[in-house]
Amino acid sequence: MKELLDIRVDSLYAWLLYKRSERENLGGIYKVVIDTSQPIYRRTEKAYKILRKLGLYLFYGWGLDRIYNEKELQDTRFLQILPKLFTLSGEECGTQYDESFACPICGAGGKMIPPLKIHQSRIPKTDISMTLGQGEEILVSVRFKQIMEDNHITGIRYEPVYSGHKQIDFFQLLPEHYIELSEKTKTGINPFDLSGESPPFNIHHQNPDGKEWIEHVPLTVYKCPNGDNIGLNILSEAYIKDNPLLNELDYFASRQTIGHKGKGLIRPRHLLFCSNRMMRLIKENKLKGFKFEVAHIVDE
Ligand SMILES: [Zn+2]
Repeated sequence: MKELLDIRVDSLYAWLLYKRSERENLGGIYKVVIDTSQPIYRRTEKAYKILRKLGLYLFYGWGLDRIYNEKELQDTRFLQILPKLFTLSGEECGTQYDESFACPICGAGGKMIPPLKIHQSRIPKTDISMTLGQGEEILVSVRFKQIMEDNHITGIRYEPVYSGHKQIDFFQLLPEHYIELSEKTKTGINPFDLSGESPPFNIHHQNPDGKEWIEHVPLTVYKCPNGDNIGLNILSEAYIKDNPLLNELDYFASRQTIGHKGKGLIRPRHLLFCSNRMMRLIKENKLKGFKFEVAHIVDE
């Protein structure tokens, strides 16, 4: 497995910290792709931590990508599914949520009131996709459902999806069971900041009439003491606690969620897992929109 960290840095840091061959100019902002097993990764971590002490950020955005060879995937009992993401949320299309179930500390656990509504024209032409709203807003194609049913894949529930008042040719993908993640699953704000919360801070605003006011942003908890949401982002491969149910399931989700329920439309989401057999069916049938990562089964 090769793990690559992709960061976006401004030109000053790009020129100071990275060789010409290590940086790519995207027009003012530079893209730096870092193999996490190489010295460039430690160098980046050091720079990140020094800048943070000065109240500065090395990068604007980041992403982790894990690349496996076929053998590594073939030898794995369970895999995490990373569906294609698209930039529309269920709530923007009329999907409703009941927040009375939500955790008072982290905000995870709001329950969708069925059905999931999403504008059909915006759904990617893939066999799986996940909305920007995330939560359990995961869509699969009719073809996906047919192939899974023909092959007696276990552990999946399907719910209808609507665009306006019309049921459409997609289904919401839901698990029959939620399985515990192990604490070995590493989470944090980014690869160099494993914090489970963001401290409170103030934003100073000035109105057009010159009047100043202060907005107080409270403490934000990502790693919840209630054990429901485990962090803002997942930073490692997923670790699942062994469970007898795993012998019977081709598909399941994690009990815990990752992410953050702020004021916006984005909700914490569960991690999704499939058996090796289910992955092979997806690949043999060339179903689109799936990315797989190795998941580990551990005793605790
Ligand atoms: Zn919570």
